[in-house]
Amino acid sequence: MKENSAIRILALDDEPLMLKLLSRMLANLGFTSVATCDNGYAALEKIGHADGAPDLILLDLNMPEMDGVEFVRHLVERQYAGSLILVSGENERMLQSTVKLVHAHKIPVLGHLHKPATPEGLNTLLVKWSPPLPNKLRAAKKTYSADEVRTAIANGELINYYQPKVAVATGQVVGVEVLVRWRHLVDGLVFPDQFISVAEAHGLIDDLTRAVLGSALAQASIWQAIGLSLRVAVNVSMDNLASLDFADYVTKQTADAGVPPQQIVLEVTESQLMRDLRAPLEILTRLHLKRFRLSIDDFGTGHSSLAQLRDIPFDELKIDQSFVHGAWNNGTTRAMFDASLGLAKQLDMEIVAEGVEDRDDWEFLRSTGCDIAQGYFIAKPMPAADLQGWIKNWEERVRKELPAGTNEPT
Ligand code: C2E
Ligand code: CA
Ligand code: CA
Repeated sequence: MKENSAIRILALDDEPLMLKLLSRMLANLGFTSVATCDNGYAALEKIGHADGAPDLILLDLNMPEMDGVEFVRHLVERQYAGSLILVSGENERMLQSTVKLVHAHKIPVLGHLHKPATPEGLNTLLVKWSPPLPNKLRAAKKTYSADEVRTAIANGELINYYQPKVAVATGQVVGVEVLVRWRHLVDGLVFPDQFISVAEAHGLIDDLTRAVLGSALAQASIWQAIGLSLRVAVNVSMDNLASLDFADYVTKQTADAGVPPQQIVLEVTESQLMRDLRAPLEILTRLHLKRFRLSIDDFGTGHSSLAQLRDIPFDELKIDQSFVHGAWNNGTTRAMFDASLGLAKQLDMEIVAEGVEDRDDWEFLRSTGCDIAQGYFIAKPMPAADLQGWIKNWEERVRKELPAGTNEPT
């Protein structure tokens, strides 16, 4: 981390008293390079100067001339590369929607401070912050061409990672989700957000899914052979569900691998609006009849929603991580979580919470009726070879620090 004195901070607020207060709090935390402005125009002028762009702006949302939301738009136009903290007397939900808006503009938000801001509140946001080094600023994520992705699939450069899913009540490992990675010869391990959408847009997703499913089934039959009973969940893109032979393909591959369909979960997300639902409906209904487990992924976001839940015979509902992590501490998130959980219960579905990142999330889940948990607190996705070792450690951990049965859900 840079020395605090080398970090440039700008406080923008129309109340002079607030500016004084923030400056003092920052100085006490060792941040001495702090500028203040009482309106957006002056601030933009400061930022425009070659030596003026701050690493961090403390931004008041409610200002008479240019409000905070408008100011953010100007920051985007000026390709502001620093971070933001939002300060406001508005209610929590209003602050949160503004945080979302700023995130959508790809400006990092350290968080928000509710007025009157306290030194503790400010400190909490700042200790988590590591100011970006100048050369790392806006290091755009590399995207790959369709040809590169095609070649990677053909050359077997895609490998499967597996992330455990555990029963909330007992800690028992019930299955894994398959998450694809690209072992790139030059760039190292490349994550799916850098190539799945390319595959979808260029008609390569069928080949990709077939490759992923093929290795997942081979792995599933190895685990089965050594007596490890794990459900294996594969992500299926809606684009896979456009060609009617998908159901037959999956059925045949699974049978050939000697894996019971009950052990295979198909996690479906709808990332774009499907105009014609006939093919996906037919495919998923047939797979359901053949006893594959269907899971609605990222529930509550995008188009993974009520209409799908009504029309498709899902067995499992995955509550999106944005409604799980931190739900214990946030009334709005908690309400979404509870509503999704209640809905799934009423429909007699199994419920998976993803994004269980820390102990607070885990303890929270244990106080709800949620069935299954998945997330970094339990394990990160890992190569198949690491799984058995991890299971040993996890079982030890469950015995020692997460005694099952002491906190059974009510
Ligand atoms: P997803 O299906 O929602 O998968 C969960 C993602 O959340 C994974 O990211 C996983 O590594 C990450 N994750 C797990 N636990 C936590 C946690 O506690 N906190 C946080 N913040 N994240 C967590 P990953 O592996 O980068 O995959 C991203 C997305 O790419 C997946 O989201 C899925 O939509 C897609 N994807 C991955 N593999 C495949 C595939 O084989 N086929 C298709 N069509 N899509 C895939
Ligand atoms: Ca998934
Ligand atoms: Ca998800």
